[in-house]
Amino acid sequence: MTASIHDVPDIPDTPDHSTGSRKFTEPVMRPPQEAHSLLLRATQGCTWNKCSFCYVSRGYPFQAVSPDQFEVQLAQNKGLFPATTPVYLTGSNPFALPVHMLKEYLARLRRFFPDFSRVSMQTCIGDIARKSHEELVELRELGIRHLYTGTENGDDSVLALMNKGHTAADVVEQLLRLDAAGITYTTFYILGMGGKGAGKACGAATARMFNQVHPARISTTGMTIFPNTPLADMVRRGEYVEASEREKIEELRVFLQTLTTDTFYDGVHYLNPLNYRLRTTDAAAKQQILEDIEDVLQTYSDEELELMVSRSRMHSL
Ligand code: SF4
Repeated sequence: MTASIHDVPDIPDTPDHSTGSRKFTEPVMRPPQEAHSLLLRATQGCTWNKCSFCYVSRGYPFQAVSPDQFEVQLAQNKGLFPATTPVYLTGSNPFALPVHMLKEYLARLRRFFPDFSRVSMQTCIGDIARKSHEELVELRELGIRHLYTGTENGDDSVLALMNKGHTAADVVEQLLRLDAAGITYTTFYILGMGGKGAGKACGAATARMFNQVHPARISTTGMTIFPNTPLADMVRRGEYVEASEREKIEELRVFLQTLTTDTFYDGVHYLNPLNYRLRTTDAAAKQQILEDIEDVLQTYSDEELELMVSRSRMHSL
């Protein structure tokens, strides 16, 4: 049976808001765009934690900081960041938290940084589905203005293979709900996720999915088999064959050719075979990139393209 956005158990309320005694050991991660934001730990672990390719939150049970622990971080950072600082709540998907907990964090944040410019964080598609329109609007008005979400691919068979827990239709439905609530979003796309032979179909399907929504930014990385993941086991059993770097580049070409939505494409990442950034409505820039891709495909051998990334030596994001 295919996993769906409704398969996640409810998040328990934080049992004790007063002690601040919970320990958090998961390494903190943030998107590159949040380099200058005030980073505050909200959660560790991932409520889904089942994507075949992902190692990030394995071994870390999902838990949230107590409001008191949150406030300690605010006190420590007061005076170190400008009054209008953007804020990023760390964790694999803090937006899974119940609305009343997010509101309590926001209220305490407002006390220490009354003029913060916006709050952003990671979310799963299912975390959006479990909030009503009214709740999304309220959270937006309280300061949550931007979400990052791992949409990953627009081909349902690939999403199921990776046990992603959502379909392309789920992505479109929930991101349109964010549009309606006035919350902007960055979507992540993993080139090569479909494995050998699936690249061009994935590029077209993913672009068609994004063409129905309005991401502020689409950020890409290249599919990488990380150790100690279900995907690494699938590779060992011969159930999944990695796409070559050439195929990932061909997928990117189809993706950019098919993509029509007005967004910022950000493909600068060390796991990408080629690195480009562009406003997708900039026809001249897009044409130049497509010509560059063609040139690379014509000029370099398969071996040279593999060496350019040396993906087998990459063991983490
Ligand atoms: S990719 Fe995201 S949703 Fe999937 S297990 Fe990893 S952190 Fe959780």
